[in-house]
Amino acid sequence: MKKPEQLLELRRREMVAKLKRYGIANRLVLDAFLEVPRHLFFDAAALEFAYKDAAYPIGWGQTISQPYTAAFMTTLLVERCSSGKVLEIGTGSGYQAAILDVLGYSVFTVERVVELYERAGALFSTLGRHIDCRFGDGSLGWIDEAPFDGMMITAGAPKEPESLMNQLASDGCMVLPIGDSSSQHMTVISRSGKDFRKEVFQQFSFVPLVGKEGWHDTVF
Ligand code: SAM
Repeated sequence: MKKPEQLLELRRREMVAKLKRYGIANRLVLDAFLEVPRHLFFDAAALEFAYKDAAYPIGWGQTISQPYTAAFMTTLLVERCSSGKVLEIGTGSGYQAAILDVLGYSVFTVERVVELYERAGALFSTLGRHIDCRFGDGSLGWIDEAPFDGMMITAGAPKEPESLMNQLASDGCMVLPIGDSSSQHMTVISRSGKDFRKEVFQQFSFVPLVGKEGWHDTVF
């Protein structure tokens, strides 16, 4: 009979095999999803959901993103900017930040729900991951740490926040879902000096980016 840890590892391998079947092909990304134990970002009572390809509630009306969605965003980032400083907006459970850390980025992450910020920060310490996290409105970026080579906004924005655009390095790129409250198109904004190029991909459904340069919280 397999030990619980071995079973969880088996489930993780199955999750990554599914990501491959769904078209995630980047070896670095697949390896990172194999390396990070997603179940550590779940409550003990919810372990059976950790390796399903689905979003899952993490409290305060928020979710940990579906593995496919996280892998799709990570691939867009890795293929355009493979190293350097990355800013994630929407720490949530901390899973995506851990994936970025494993990929070798220097990771900064901002969360607007104080309880999630505290929980993720404690988890990063327990796991020995050096990830800088901050509580606040990430739609305004992290000016003291700018510029960033990459950005990943893991909440749905009505449009690209200008503060974030200004904090991108001159050859940096930002991955974010843009749309309305029910669905958004995954979008990449790549900067080249003063010019910004936009690429638009398939639709996803995210919780909203709530903030000064996102949605106003009275809307939700
Ligand atoms: N990346 C997360 C993970 O790996 O678990 C999932 C993110 S969840 C889909 C979106 C997160 O964005 C939520 O935790 C939400 O509180 C946060 N959020 C929404 N608006 C924000 C803002 N203006 N600044 C920072 N975080 C924000």
